[in-house]
Amino acid sequence: MTVDATQPYDPGNIFAKILRGEIPCSKVYEDEWALAFHDIAPQAPVHVLVIPKGEYVAWDDFSARASAEEIAGFVRAVGHVARELGLVEPGYRLLANVGAHGGQEVPHLHVHLFGGRPLGRMIS
Ligand code: IMP
Repeated sequence: MTVDATQPYDPGNIFAKILRGEIPCSKVYEDEWALAFHDIAPQAPVHVLVIPKGEYVAWDDFSARASAEEIAGFVRAVGHVARELGLVEPGYRLLANVGAHGGQEVPHLHVHLFGGRPLGRMIS
């Protein structure tokens, strides 16, 4: 089921449980601002999800409510993960689904990081 990006944050969502350590994940990176882990159903040889530690449903409320420090910390974490995974050359793709039309299924903001093969011009 897709997410309504305007809904209040649900602390019972699966990524909130991963952040609290209630559900395991295949961790790639963690710092004060973000957690990165392998997607359970990878769509590319590298498919990592990067999530902020704060409670944000989607890019919409994150961009509106998060502090400059949180936004900078999260964006830096995404870049760090891509570099650590050796993806900068030959490249990779970032994707954030928002709401029903974006096909968002988990109501905690996440950025998909795809790499490891030529990805074509779009994943739709
Ligand atoms: P969305 O469509 O952008 O919300 O993508 C959610 C992603 O989360 C999908 O690619 C799922 O495969 C992934 N996912 C769902 N549950 C888990 C989990 O427990 N661990 C890792 N990835 C998950």
